[in-house]
Amino acid sequence: MRDRDCIFCKIIAGELPSQTIEEDERTVAFMDISPATRGHLLVVPREHARNLLEISTDDLQATIATAQRMARRVDERLKPAGINVLNSCGSAAWQTVFHFHVHVIPRYEGDPLRLPWTPAEGDMDEIAAVARELR
Ligand code: 5GP
Ligand code: ZN
Repeated sequence: MRDRDCIFCKIIAGELPSQTIEEDERTVAFMDISPATRGHLLVVPREHARNLLEISTDDLQATIATAQRMARRVDERLKPAGINVLNSCGSAAWQTVFHFHVHVIPRYEGDPLRLPWTPAEGDMDEIAAVARELR
């Protein structure tokens, strides 16, 4: 299924241009149009799903497997110092395109990316309380 208004569905259908790297039965990998670093690419399922909560487990597995393949390709060809694999779920979590995607972002010494939170010791009672909510 596709969403008529979705830019990634249009890219998958070939109705919008993209620098596609690889396609398989379930997934497509293409370059991000506003790369965070050199080699930043996206991996999407062919079938439209809004986010991590809605994607089928089969498509999720296929998408992460392609992301791993792309990460290995990036590592081999671009020789980054590291790689971030990132997904945002919901606009509060920075999602801007509502077709599930995984970012594969090569990292280089001195690149401008920064950890988006400040690591600090947590409150153990609060951690235990939320853990109880999640069990
Ligand atoms: P999000 O913010 O939802 O996690 O990521 C969406 C990503 O899609 C952004 O990194 C953005 O640069 C990329 N993007 C948005 N529109 C297009 C487009 O038309 N083509 C490509 N290749 N990437 C896009
Ligand atoms: Zn879509």
